[in-house]
Amino acid sequence: MLELKNVSKFYYNKTTVSSGFSKINLKLDLGEFVAITGESGSGKSTLLNVISGLDSYEEGEMYINGEETSGYTEKDFENYRKKYIANIFQNFNLVNSYTVYQNVELVLLINGYKKHEIKEKILETLEKVDLLKYKNMKVSKLSGGQKQRVAIARALVKETPIIVADEPTGNLDVKTANNIIELLKEVAKDKLIIIVTHNYEQVEKYATRKITMSDGRIIEDKKIERDNKNIQLKENTFKMLPNENKGLRLINKILLGIRNTFNIKTKFLLLLAVYLFVCISIAFGYSALQSLEYEESNSGYNNFFRDLNPKRIIIKKNDLSAITDEDYKKLENIENVDYIVKNDVLIDGYLIMMLDNSAMSAQANSITNFNEEITFGRKPEKENEVLIQVAKDSYMAKKIEESVGKSTSLINMQNSSKILDNNVEIVGVSIVEQDDFGQSYGRARLYLEDNNLNEIRKNLNIGYAKTTIEFYNQILEERYSVMPNANVPEGEAFVPESFKYMTKNNNCINEIVNVNIETLYYKDNMNVKISKTYNEKNMKRLLNIEDYNRFSSTVFVNPQEYAKLFDKENYQSSIYMKDDKLVSETIEELQNNGYTTLHIKDAIINSMGESMVFINIFRIVLASIVAIVLFFISYFIIKIIMKSRNIYFSTVRILGATKKNLKELLQIELFTMLNIAYVITILIIILIQKEIINIQFLKNIIEYIKITDLLVIYIILLIMSKLISLRYSKQLFKKSAMNTYREEV
Ligand code: ADP
Ligand code: MG
Repeated sequence: MLELKNVSKFYYNKTTVSSGFSKINLKLDLGEFVAITGESGSGKSTLLNVISGLDSYEEGEMYINGEETSGYTEKDFENYRKKYIANIFQNFNLVNSYTVYQNVELVLLINGYKKHEIKEKILETLEKVDLLKYKNMKVSKLSGGQKQRVAIARALVKETPIIVADEPTGNLDVKTANNIIELLKEVAKDKLIIIVTHNYEQVEKYATRKITMSDGRIIEDKKIERDNKNIQLKENTFKMLPNENKGLRLINKILLGIRNTFNIKTKFLLLLAVYLFVCISIAFGYSALQSLEYEESNSGYNNFFRDLNPKRIIIKKNDLSAITDEDYKKLENIENVDYIVKNDVLIDGYLIMMLDNSAMSAQANSITNFNEEITFGRKPEKENEVLIQVAKDSYMAKKIEESVGKSTSLINMQNSSKILDNNVEIVGVSIVEQDDFGQSYGRARLYLEDNNLNEIRKNLNIGYAKTTIEFYNQILEERYSVMPNANVPEGEAFVPESFKYMTKNNNCINEIVNVNIETLYYKDNMNVKISKTYNEKNMKRLLNIEDYNRFSSTVFVNPQEYAKLFDKENYQSSIYMKDDKLVSETIEELQNNGYTTLHIKDAIINSMGESMVFINIFRIVLASIVAIVLFFISYFIIKIIMKSRNIYFSTVRILGATKKNLKELLQIELFTMLNIAYVITILIIILIQKEIINIQFLKNIIEYIKITDLLVIYIILLIMSKLISLRYSKQLFKKSAMNTYREEV
């Protein structure tokens, strides 16, 4: 079965070569019970390791079943070990944190068996070594003798023809030792048993052969005849469990990985603490960055849009048509829509309210959109009544109470004219938090009846309008303007006398003037026919205007007709969201409904401008440094924690697991850990968000975490875990299994 011819083993150190054993000649067969004795350091263990394929040899030839092994690769030896060898060690080499059953099971799982196939077999084997009643007990709780029985069960269950035992009784008392030897003999009748002992008396009763070693050589090799040698031996007829030997199966890998995660409580808790620490610092650090970015993106300015409330989304229809009442109904039904301001000119128009000789910038809004508390006074009930809303910390908030009951005018800043013909009466005041207000600092919001609002809207449009006049196929210069005048009938225009010089026959009467207007949101035009011309003398009579010099380049048109150009439907509206964190979802829905959108945040020019880029780069560098430091801290802590696992990994390796298996086992273990820590972190985040854990500071930070951010955090953690397991397993495999084991024990 096994034959060694002149085999030598050397150990190479940096400077010296020492001999493990030399020129060993040996032929071993099934059914033999071989006892190897000799003083310490004589090469017994080395010989066993070479026979077991755990160590290499340098000289001579070793035959397995007649096959020469000098050409064997590492893989071939792995297969050889799997098929032929079971080891029993002085130090038992068990996984202490596993139960008896799990220890025996481990070797079969590593060798590719299916979990359900092997249960019977394991129980049977435990029965043989009389450990059935301890099957669910952790190995660490067993006595030495019991541990060695587990090791024997583990050696038996693989059904290999050779059992190699290196001083299996070295750590046991005499009585227990005798029991173990007896057991070995009994359960392994038809196998080749090679047992190292320095107490030959112990095995004398059973040994069929005694080999004595000294200084790396065999000095005695004696066969002992036994009467009861009636065993029928047939080489290579071992009944094995069905096994395609795929090595450790995926499902069992996962099972073992998860088992390893939980089976040592202190290790589990320590690792969990480290992972939680990493998880939570990344989550909080990340969200702190996010909230900073958010705050910054909300501070800034825009020359055109005057309401920079982050809840505001500006919409137009894709086809640029007017937004109808039906459209508004649909818009109101969108989940996150709080309210709609139908015409943007009200928000962005420049409106001034005079209050006690000071001017206050304001935005007009419909009283139907008012849903806050009234601080003083009451809601407007009829036209020309107004409710003023200001932010608590604005300069106006202090004196605003006194304004209730006062009457004042609203001015259109674009053309410095009154925006409402009548004065308005302030009937109520609402003071709110800046955050809920959303207006640019120091700007007030006015709530009015819809009729007032329409008038304001029209006049703001007029104020903003850019007018061009086209006459006789040419566009007139800018000094020509258009004005409404009550004396002009519909469809007609009164123009300066000078217009006639622009025509061929010096007569402009009945010629057409085209008036083009362009407001913030739309363009329109109208054609009017010249019915009268005016000059300095007849101006007063025709138009009731005296200041000729001021109006000498003006085209006068009918007021109702002119107003029609500005009393338009809505082309651009603003949606105010309930929750601006849901902005992307809301925008998506608006776009699906056929709108072009602009979130006000994206129109803001950050006041810090270019310097922001540097601040951001600095911040990213800082965050990266923190992440790297965090990585190394956790790497070292995890390494220390995992060091206690070296025995486990070398044991698993001796039992036949490949390097790849071990790496994967480690990865699954860390991956499981990571997921537990991640789930706990998410639970904490949810508890904070739901205010079950009520810490405002944390809530503020966490507020801006979105689902996608959680994904990013998960990926960061995943990469970290992977790096850690790669580095750790690399270090683990620098040494051979036996060396790791020797160092640790
Ligand atoms: P035994 O098991 O009989 O006590 P060993 O087989 O352990 O003896 O050792 C045989 C010889 O090989 C000893 O001289 C020992 O010092 C040497 N040896 C064993 N292992 C190593 C090793 N890993 N590196 C160098 N020398 C070793
Ligand atoms: Mg030894």
